Amino acid sequence: MPRLYESRKRILVTGGAGFIGSHLIDRLLEQGHEVLCVDNLFTGTKRNLDHLHDNPRFEFMRHDVTFPLHVEVDEIYNLACPASPVHYQHDPVATTKTSVHGAINMLGLAKRLNARIFQASTSEVYGDPHVHPQPEEYWGNVNPIGPRSCYDEGKRCAETLFFDYHRQHGVEIKVARIFNTYGPRMHHADGRVVSNFIVQALQGDPITIYGDGSQTRSFCYVDDLVEGFLRLMDTDASVTGPINLGNPGEFTIKELAEKVIAMTGAKSSLEFLDLPADDPRQRKPDIAKAKETLGWEPTIALEQGLERTIAYFDRRLQELRAG
Ligand code: NAD
Ligand code: UDP
Ligand code: UDP
Repeated sequence: MPRLYESRKRILVTGGAGFIGSHLIDRLLEQGHEVLCVDNLFTGTKRNLDHLHDNPRFEFMRHDVTFPLHVEVDEIYNLACPASPVHYQHDPVATTKTSVHGAINMLGLAKRLNARIFQASTSEVYGDPHVHPQPEEYWGNVNPIGPRSCYDEGKRCAETLFFDYHRQHGVEIKVARIFNTYGPRMHHADGRVVSNFIVQALQGDPITIYGDGSQTRSFCYVDDLVEGFLRLMDTDASVTGPINLGNPGEFTIKELAEKVIAMTGAKSSLEFLDLPADDPRQRKPDIAKAKETLGWEPTIALEQGLERTIAYFDRRLQELRAG
């Protein structure tokens, strides 16, 4: 029997009011666990957790992970960190602090409790990659002093801390490098490409393409990603990662725009704007390790995932219009 199902655990999810965290919490509760969600609501919202209001196994604590946290749990998923460039560049010092001080505090907690801890790292540790697709062995090409550095270097330093707590203190770590993920509960105004394009298309506004749209990304549907989290957390203690989790299907941003327009039937035009500084040219995960170690690969194709996400934003925009 897999370890996860052996008994009910009390599980801490930091950043649980956010997009990915709230889906993870749903799955953990479905599995019968108790969940403590810790979030400062910087980019997340209680709306993502409203449906859990009456669940006696769910608890919410408003707290900033840059400050120490003294709770009793069996396992920790550390997701707290703004993920959209617009959000993480809003207060870049806070972003670095969240990744670095947040990692130190959660690792200190894991050490005291002898608890297994998962880190939501990112494909951004590869920066603007010179190796394509990106395997875990690639060390990356990251600008240490640019506008994206607070996020990229913060996450790189967090990985360093995870591996040093593992080597120095024997903490059981699980590091996932997450590639672009999308789905319901993304914030409608968080500036990421999938939410921007769908919201623009549904409103008949121009679709804003940064640069000429030839840069590529690989988009993973959130349910697939969360399945990867659970499988990684459930591996033998010898498995630390880092392990790439993402969908290897690679699309140009222009292709994504055209797909969204076709699927929504929008009359939107394409508007070409300046490419932001240090925007990676291409990105696609090598998921050989995830396949081999976790028996995991994405099952939801981009069009299928977009359909569900478009339906979500359609409802959400109606709610917002209704006030
Ligand atoms: P999100 O912004 O929706 O969620 C992040 C959550 O962390 C929010 O609820 C926010 O309020 C909370 N938070 C931020 N700073 C905090 C702090 N100091 N203390 C406590 N809580 C804090 O983003 P997401 O897309 O759900 O991302 C979740 C995690 O996955 C992040 O760590 C992100 O870096 C990582 N990730 C996401 C993607 C993606 O494509 N969505 C890709 C790579 C990595
Ligand atoms: N920490 C925490 N909760 C705990 C244990 C530790 O938030 O239950 C924090 C603690 O405040 C410290 C950090 O985690 O700042 C790192 O802890 P560690 O024990 O590794 O280092 P030290 O306390 O010796 O600096
Ligand atoms: N992008 C775009 N239009 C938008 C938002 C983003 O063309 O309205 C581009 C952005 O420049 C980048 C890609 O889409 O090349 C993915 O951007 P996102 O912010 O979603 O994620 P990240 O850059 O962190 O991968």
